[in-house]
This record gives sequence, structure tokens and C-alpha cells, in this order.
Amino acid sequence: MALMTAQEYIESLRKLKTRVYMFGEEIENWVDHPMIRPSINCVAMTYALAQDPQYADLMTVKSSLTGRTVNRFTHLHQSTEDLINKVKMQRLLGQKTASCFQRCVGMDAFNAVFSSTFEIDEKYGTHYHENFKNFLTMVQDNDLTVDGAMTDPKGDRSKAPSQQADPDMYVHVVERRPDGIVVCGAKCHQTGSINSHWHIFMPTISMGEADKDWAVSFACPTDAEGMYMIYGRQSCDTRKLEEDASIDVGNAKFGGQEALVVLDHVFIPNEYIFLNGEYEFAGMIVERFAGYHRQSYGGCKVGVGDVVIGAAALAAEYNGVERASAVKDKLIEMTHLNETLYCCGIACSSQGFKTKAGNYQIDLLLANVCKQNVTRFPYEIVRLAEDVAGGLMVTMPSQKDFHSGTVVGRNGETIGDICNKFFAAREGVSTEDRQRVMRFLENMCLGAAAVGYRTESMHGAGSPQAQRIMIARQGNIQGKKQLAKDIAGIQ
Ligand code: SF4
Ligand code: FE
Repeated sequence: MALMTAQEYIESLRKLKTRVYMFGEEIENWVDHPMIRPSINCVAMTYALAQDPQYADLMTVKSSLTGRTVNRFTHLHQSTEDLINKVKMQRLLGQKTASCFQRCVGMDAFNAVFSSTFEIDEKYGTHYHENFKNFLTMVQDNDLTVDGAMTDPKGDRSKAPSQQADPDMYVHVVERRPDGIVVCGAKCHQTGSINSHWHIFMPTISMGEADKDWAVSFACPTDAEGMYMIYGRQSCDTRKLEEDASIDVGNAKFGGQEALVVLDHVFIPNEYIFLNGEYEFAGMIVERFAGYHRQSYGGCKVGVGDVVIGAAALAAEYNGVERASAVKDKLIEMTHLNETLYCCGIACSSQGFKTKAGNYQIDLLLANVCKQNVTRFPYEIVRLAEDVAGGLMVTMPSQKDFHSGTVVGRNGETIGDICNKFFAAREGVSTEDRQRVMRFLENMCLGAAAVGYRTESMHGAGSPQAQRIMIARQGNIQGKKQLAKDIAGIQ
């Protein structure tokens, strides 16, 4: 099968029997649900751009497994150039959606599991790498979206998986059969879970011998028997359910999605298992996946940042202050911060290296520095955007008020007339355009999109402390001490 179009992707989701719950009820037609659809549109953009000749070089690539043309989101990186192109592609998608477009978690899982399974087989003579290559060939040939599911609920964080009062706090094997395994547990805040065709489950921490049953990785169709999702809500999400509120929503077309993914005795056939008890490799999968996803943020958040900077500049223009030196300087600062993140994404890619399995891994230290910066700079960028935009982004009346025909004035003025009079922008700019840019910024800075641009920048791909641990491990303080000793003449 060739690459799917955006529309084919959306239609393909309707064929799945995915179980989705929201506000305490099962959602039957989740594909068209106004709170879910924007996140589907976002993933659809990864298909649409691959069909666009302007972006084909970036969005598509020859498969290392089959030689056929595949979407880069399903590719195994074959060079540092591939790693750089991945970051460029993510920046492009961020620019086109101003949201988390979700398909990267699968791409990062493919690359981490591909290289790790090779090394597990090398040690144990298992067949996980072959399983994985067959699975990925199917994914590439059908142009599927796959979710990378890592984050377990974790329960009491001072305890290992096997020590938890409730064993389901980490995904684990409850039964081993000749033809496969049965698994239970859950993964929290899974990006792009509902609108993926398949999931790859991976461990979330390093494990010891007692945790054998929790050291498990496998692929599973999203509508597998026993699997279901409970949709995560976002700030101001119910605006998407209101009538005449498309401007109030801020970004009516696109958005991200997270869900709690539950595995209630799900059977996984042998051919989809990539780790099953080889506990000492759990940490390798975690470290590699996290490394790739920390690189990813040097692309996606930068693309979203480009839109935030553009919106702040527009707000300044509409307010008539674009020439003020203080405003210009704030836009420079935002650009500087945003491009610093991009530098990190490109740097960790350009310093990548070949794994034993043959695909390319990013430089771990630089990827962790990248993500550590991402836990800070988008916050400063939205702070400056709020500064430039002014308070109107959070105090403006609703779209319905702007459209209201209710008479309130002595001369027959309606609520709409009054809103349009007092919220008028500079000459030549419509009040509605000003309204649109303010609501967009509200959405980015503290509405539904702030999930993707702020809190996800903090906690996605691991919270700040996780990067500091990696920076400590990779930072080579002993080597640096030696440098100082050599020059200072210390024996
Ligand atoms: Fe992709 Fe960024 Fe969303 Fe992760 S946070 S899935 S890298 S867009
Ligand atoms: Fe993320």
C-alpha cells in the first residue's frame, strides 16, 4: 500500500473498534467529536504534508528495510542527516499546527526498540529484532500511526515495580502461554493514543531481577480486546463544545491529546513481543527512547514557538506598537530563545552515532541539554508573548457578544456594536482579526494548547530532574577536573 492521504488516515480510524471514554461515558463517534477531532487533524497533517511536493523531500524517505518510499515518521534514521531532517520535519509540523502532532512518539519508539532488540538478541539468542523488523515493515507499508507508550502510573515512587502494593502500577505479564503473553496495567498521559492504529509499549524505568515480569515491551493494536482509553481533559476544552465559539477556542483546527491507556488482560502473540523478562535491557530502551524524544522537542516546540512569536508580533501590529523599541527587543529575545532550542535539536542530531543495529542514535548529553532548555524557554517565550499582547487576551468578551443583536444602547446599538466599537484595533485592521490573534495567544499561553507548549515542555519526554541525572552521567566531571589539573600544574 502507498502512503495514505490525510482523508484516508481519518477514514482508517473509523474502521477501528477503539474504546474511548470521556466525562464518564463511552464516546461512540470519537472521530468526529469536537473535543477530539482537532488532535486527529493534527496527525492528519503528517499525512497531508507527505503528499505535498513542496515537502516531499523532508516528509518522505526510502525505507532501510524495504527500499520503498515511506513517511519519515515511520523511518529508522540511517545517518546524522536523517536525524537533522527529523528535527526539521518536526519544526515544520509545529509551524503548520501550533500543536503537538503526536506521531513522533511512535517514531522515537521505533528507533529505540530497533537498536535495543538487536542487542538483546545478541546476548540471549531471542528473536525480538526479527519480530520488530516484521512489525515495522507492516507499519511502513500501511503508513500507520503508532503510539509509543512508556509512562506507567508508578504508584509509590520510592518502590520498584515488584514492590508496589498494586502490581498494575507498572505494565506487567500476568500469564505466559506457548503462543504469547497476557498483560495488565496502564500508561498515563499518552500522547496521540486514541488516534493511533497501534501502540508500542515499553518499560518506563530501569529494572532489577525481581522486576522480570514488568520488563516487557510489545506492540498491540489500539482496538485490542481488553484495551481502552480515558480521555484527558485540557484547560478550556469545553469551549470546543460551544456554538459560535470558533474564535474563542483560539485554534479551532488543531490540538493535542492525551489519555490514560488501560490494559485489562490483553493477549499479545509471540510475534509482537520485543522484551519479555530480560530486565537489564529495560533501562536501555528507556534511555534511548527518552534521548530521541528529548531531541524531538528541539524541533516541535520550536515550530510552535515560531507561531507564538508571529502571533505576538501581529498583536503588537494590531495594537499599533510594532515600532516601539521595547516591543522589537522582546520579539528579538523570543527569537533568540526559540533558535537556541533549535540549535540544541540540530546539535544533538549532528553529533549522532551508529548503533550496533545500524540505525542512528542522537548524542545523549546534547539531547538532554536540549530538553532541559525546553523546560524553561517556552515559559519565557509565552511570558513575553503575554507582555507584548496585553491583558485583552484574557479579558475580551465572547464571540457570541461580538455577534449579538441584543440592543443595549440609547441609539439602538447592539452588544455586538458596542464590542466592535470599544475593541477596535488600529485603522485598517478588523476587530475580528484582533480578537482572533488575542484568543490564539490565550490558547497557547494558558488554554488547551498550553498543555502542549508549556506543561508538556516541562514534563513531556521526562521531567527536568530526569535530564539533570543524564547530564550528570554524561557530563564527565572527572575528565574536566583533569583538564584543570593539567593546566594548573596539579599532580
Ligand atoms: Fe511530537 Fe513534540 Fe508532540 Fe512529542 S511533544 S509527540 S515530539 S509534537
Ligand atoms: Fe511529547
